[in-house]
Parts: sequence; C-alpha cells; structure tokens
Amino acid sequence: PDPQLQSLRERLPQWMDASRGKAAEGRVASYIPELAKAPADALGVCVLAADGSSVFAGDCGLPFTMQSISKVFTLLLALKDKGETGVFARVGMEPTGDDFNSMLKLELVEPGKPFNPLINAGAIAVTSLIDGATPADKFSRVLAFFREVADDPTLDYNEAVYHSESATAHRNRSLAYFLKDNGVLSENDEVEDVLEVYFKHCAVETTCRNLARMALVLAFDGTDPISGRELIPRRYVQIAKTFMVTCGMYNASGEFAIRAGLPAKSGVSGGILTLVPGRFGIGVVGPSLNGKGNSIAGVHLLETMSSHFDWSIF
Ligand code: GLN
Repeated sequence: PDPQLQSLRERLPQWMDASRGKAAEGRVASYIPELAKAPADALGVCVLAADGSSVFAGDCGLPFTMQSISKVFTLLLALKDKGETGVFARVGMEPTGDDFNSMLKLELVEPGKPFNPLINAGAIAVTSLIDGATPADKFSRVLAFFREVADDPTLDYNEAVYHSESATAHRNRSLAYFLKDNGVLSENDEVEDVLEVYFKHCAVETTCRNLARMALVLAFDGTDPISGRELIPRRYVQIAKTFMVTCGMYNASGEFAIRAGLPAKSGVSGGILTLVPGRFGIGVVGPSLNGKGNSIAGVHLLETMSSHFDWSIF
C-alpha cells in the first residue's frame, strides 16, 4: 500500500475536527430547495490508491448529488462523441472569474459562446452534444458512462433533487434560451430536452467513495488502475484535468491552485472530486458552502492534506 495512506490514517481524525469547525462559517445551498435538507456539519473524505487500498473518514457513505462535478464527465463523454473540434466549436477554454451561473460574459467572445464547459452555460451546451436520439437516450448514455467510470452499476439519479431543480431553474432556463437564440444550442436542440438531461446528470447520486473511484480513473489518465479497463482516451482526460485546474472551483480556482495545487471539481451539494496524478483518487463532502459555492470544510481539509504531503502539481 502507498506509504502516505498510513500517515494519512493517523492524522485524519485531527484534521477532520479542524476542518469541521469551519462549517459554521458557511451555508448549505438552498436555491435548489431539496439541497437545503443536507446536514450542514457533515464532513466525509475517501482517498483511494491504485491497488484499491483506501483511507476514509467521517461521513464518507453520505449520499449527495454530483451537481457540477458531473460536468467533468459529461465533457468527457461529449469529447468521446464529438471530438475536440466538435466540442470547442460550442464552448471556449477560458476561466471567467464570475459565478458559476453568471450571464455576464456570454456576449463577450463569439456571440453567445460560453467561456468554458464547467460554468452552467458551457455545461448546458456540452450536454446538448451528447449522442442520442431523445433526452432519455442521451441520459441513459450519460448514466452508463458514469457507472462505467465509477465501476458501480447501481449509480442513479435522485428524482426529488431532479424535480426540485427543474421546477426552480429560472436562471438556467434563461441561460439555455440565450444559448438557443445564439445558435450555441442548434436547431434540433429543444431547450427543455437539453435541460432535462442536464438536471438529471447534476442529480446523479454519489458518495465520497464513489467520487474517489471516478477520480482514480482521471488520476491514471483514463485507465482504471484497479481493473485495467481503458475507459477514456488520455488526451480527453488531459483536457478535463486542465479545466479542473483553471475553472473547477469556479472563481476560487486560482486560490485553490495556489493552496492545494490539484485538479478538482466542486458541486453545490458540497462534494469535491480531486486527485493526485498517478497516485490517488479523492472524494470529499461537506455541504456547508463558502461564498464562492465550494465546500468550506472540504476545501480546508484538502488544503491541509495537500500542503502536508506536498501534493501540489506545480
Ligand atoms: N445543478 C446545479 C445548477 O445548475 C449545478 C451547479 C453547481 O454545482 N455549482 O445550478
């Protein structure tokens, strides 16, 4: 087993306590009403190594929805379906410095083209690129891909969270109609169909352990080191990890890159998927969020772990 795992096992209880103390400074997301039910002071972490050995602590079995973390994997699927040219015809490669659901910069580059695939506008555009004749076909391909990467055939979406988001998503709806008006969503893409797939993939239910498993595949460039399955071309994983560094923590990505130095993706349910290249897949959950929409305890814990073990990729 990786020698750092033993050291981590010994230190985690103390580190977890220190990070859990941060939760009170943040707030659970409530703009999707169903998410407001999450336990604010929960904190869980799972670190998984290539030989399948792992360290986990706290609420690592707590179910939560992937939310924006799913965007990394729909990007990978869209790249598999449409290639780099197809994807980058619809989204850019630059961070925005704005909130994840911002409309501010949609008019700035080529009209209507979202800056990157990890902000909501970009992710909605990417979702429209996934192959499938109907929304049901598209989502079943998304779910099959997520299940394959997570090595978990039981992975599914949470109906209540899906309906809760769909019923209240006025902002995402307006973003999507704006994309449609600008031709970023094509003639054939019905806005409501694209949003159905988008809300469902955001509502896929996971745990820290599951996130760590998915992250491990990214840590090993698309090949699952546990089973040896080659799941994603290395080039596409490289693209996804680059976006995770530049945009994965929204407009706190620069700060996270300096403090932790790891490719990561957060979601408003409080999950963070991150990885140490060639070494570990990591999943964290802590539903209380900071002002930038990232798990407040989760960010603190990852920064502590990364600086102690000198994990920064830079
Ligand atoms: N489903 C959420 C939304 O579109 C995802 C946002 C997030 O996790 N930051 O608002």
